[in-house]
Amino acid sequence: MEKTVLITGGAGFIGSHLCDFLLNKNFKIICVDNLITGNKKNIEHLSNNQNFKFINQDISKHIAINENLDYILHLASPASPVDYQKIPIQTLKVGSLGTHNTLGLALVKKAKYLLASTSEVYGDPLVNPQPETYWGNVNPIGVRGCYDESKRFAEALVMAYHRIHNVDIRIARIFNTYGPRMSKDDGRVVPNFITQVVSNKPLTIYGDGKQTRSFCYINDLIEGIYRLMMSNINEPVNLGNPEEHTILEFAEKIKKITKSKSKIVFKDLPIDDPRVRCPDISKAKKILNWEPKFTLGNGLKETIEFFKQNQNVF
Ligand code: UDP
Repeated sequence: MEKTVLITGGAGFIGSHLCDFLLNKNFKIICVDNLITGNKKNIEHLSNNQNFKFINQDISKHIAINENLDYILHLASPASPVDYQKIPIQTLKVGSLGTHNTLGLALVKKAKYLLASTSEVYGDPLVNPQPETYWGNVNPIGVRGCYDESKRFAEALVMAYHRIHNVDIRIARIFNTYGPRMSKDDGRVVPNFITQVVSNKPLTIYGDGKQTRSFCYINDLIEGIYRLMMSNINEPVNLGNPEEHTILEFAEKIKKITKSKSKIVFKDLPIDDPRVRCPDISKAKKILNWEPKFTLGNGLKETIEFFKQNQNVF
C-alpha cells in the first residue's frame, strides 16, 4: 500500500523538493500551501501526477482531510528574515496555530509528524558550533522574535503532543539551505549575491562581513529530512552543513566561481543579525548516518545555473 504524506508549505523552496523526492519514492502527496511565500511554479510540473494533490489553504486555519495520512511534515512558514519581518503576525500564527492544527490532524489520523524547525531557535548563539543541547540566546521582542519564538513555541507544542498524546514526532532543526527554487527576491544572502553577480551589480555585504553562516545544498538537506522522517528519534536533530564561512569569504567564493568583476559594498548590519552560526551535526551523523555530500562549489554551480535560466520566472 502506498503511504500518504501531507506536506504543509509544499509549494515552498524546501517543501517542493520534498514533494519531488517523496513522489519518486512512491509516496502519495497532499501539498498544502497558501502561496504567501511559496510559489505555484515550484509544483507546476506535478499538476498531472496522479499521486499529487494541491490544496490552496492557510494551515493556520482548521483543515479537514478525508484521506488517511501516514505522515505529516509541517514546513509552512515564511523563512527569510525579509519575509517574516514583513508579515510577523502570519509567521507567529503558522508556527503556533498551524502547528496546533497539524498536530491535531496527526492525532486523529495516527500519522507520524515532522516539524521543520530552524537554527534560529539558537538565536545569536553564545556557543559555536551549536549542538542540540544548547538552549539558545533569543531576543523575544526583537525583529526576528516573530520567527524564532514561533518555532520555539512549535517545538514546545510538538513535545507536549508527544508527551501527553503520544504523537510520534520528529524535529528537524534546519540550518541555512540553498539551491534551485529559492525565491530570487527573498532577501537572503544566496539569492542576493547570485542575482547581483549575474547582473554585474555590486555584492551587498551587511556589516563587516565577519559574521558566519554555513550553507547546505538542498539535495543534502532533503536526504537528511527523509532519514529523520523514517527514523524513530523523538528529539530535535540539527540538519545543516558544518563548514563555517564568513559572509565575506562567501562573497569572494561566488565571485571566483562566476569570474565576476562585481565590486563588494558594505551596508548596515540588520538588527539582531546572529554573529555566528554553524551546526554540530554529530547527532545526525551518528543516528541517521547522514552528512552533507555537496561541496559549496558544486552546489553553487547548480544554483547559479538555475538563477540564470529562470531570471524572469521566480
Ligand atoms: N547578508 C549580507 N548581504 C545580503 C544578504 C544577507 O551580507 O545581501 C548577510 C546577513 O546580514 C546575514 C547572512 O548574510 O549575516 C545570512 O543572511 P540571510 O538573510 O541569508 O539569512 P539568516 O542566516 O540571517 O537567517
